[in-house]
Amino acid sequence: MQDQFGRKIEYIRVSVTDRCNLRCIYCMPPEGVPAVPHSEILTFDEIERFCRIAAGLGISRIKLTGGEPLVRRGLPFLLGKLKQIPGVEQVTLTTNGTQLKEQIRDLAANGLDAVNISLDTLDAQRYHQVTRVGSLDQALEGLDAALRCPGLPVKINCVPLEDGTDKDLLRLAGLARKCPVDVRFIELMPFGPGRESAGRSNADIKKILEKQFGSSKPYENLLGNGPAEYVLFPGFRGRVGFISALSHKFCSTCNRLRLTSEGLLKPCLQYGTGADIKALLRGGASDRQIQEAVIQTVLSKPACHHFNEDNDEDENGEGGQKENREMSRIGG
Ligand code: SAM
Ligand code: SF4
Repeated sequence: MQDQFGRKIEYIRVSVTDRCNLRCIYCMPPEGVPAVPHSEILTFDEIERFCRIAAGLGISRIKLTGGEPLVRRGLPFLLGKLKQIPGVEQVTLTTNGTQLKEQIRDLAANGLDAVNISLDTLDAQRYHQVTRVGSLDQALEGLDAALRCPGLPVKINCVPLEDGTDKDLLRLAGLARKCPVDVRFIELMPFGPGRESAGRSNADIKKILEKQFGSSKPYENLLGNGPAEYVLFPGFRGRVGFISALSHKFCSTCNRLRLTSEGLLKPCLQYGTGADIKALLRGGASDRQIQEAVIQTVLSKPACHHFNEDNDEDENGEGGQKENREMSRIGG
């Protein structure tokens, strides 16, 4: 599928739950988001049917996300079902890693193609502070289990906050020296509680890393599904990536759609609008009608996001209403 700006749309992030066992300060309020009743969340059968229809239109890569996807019971089963859909080449997962140790074997057996683990610090106290309730040991056990899984590509995602330390960022990046993992720094985006935290710019972080590890070389080969810009540091086994949604918009190469756990198909992260896929799935719509909704959503993708701007619409009058959901309810 191509959108009206000629971008090829081939990737979807599918959120399977709005629930999470952590409460990261930039993602969730302390009390968590009001839990959506189970009946309002798409069932595995509904997700599978939708993905089958989307794959028929050219969506070839699926990322399972949440909330925390591993708190939804039976996730490896869903993964296995999605892997069997003709046209689906890759199903990957983004997780906080705290339940990976227990589930990695099942996930791998069902064909998991890669995993991203969110890890903002290697300091136990700071981890507890940022996640409010989490234990670093549990996340590291998950990381270790993923690294032991033969042939499984592993990436670490870190959202640096202004009140974090440089030492912490250096330790995290240093994981890519020690282990065959890519470590990616993601600029904080102004969503929900993320509006109340201050992030750090990737340009600053790169400077700090280069001071410690020496000059980096750009890594040109495209890696993964998206917008990270990768570099190689001397002697490193993995790459270091920068996802700079705010300082360097990458909208011109946007290749994605997002399906929330409540079945809203979103054309753009920033805007709250989209197609009500759940209503179609539950209202007896035909595959053809759902296909049409996907195509219309792709055609409604705005040219770019306008984070940090107060107006709801961009200069072309597109975009519409801004997103008010927390990141945990969109899937990141
Ligand atoms: N629970 C899983 C996890 O943490 O990987 C999946 C869902 S989480 C919403 C997906 C990603 O979004 C995580 O890497 C998280 O750090 C990131 N994220 C959450 N809020 C964000 C924000 N305001 N700006 C940038 N990234 C954010
Ligand atoms: Fe949960 Fe992931 Fe949000 Fe942290 S970033 S609260 S782990 S959904």
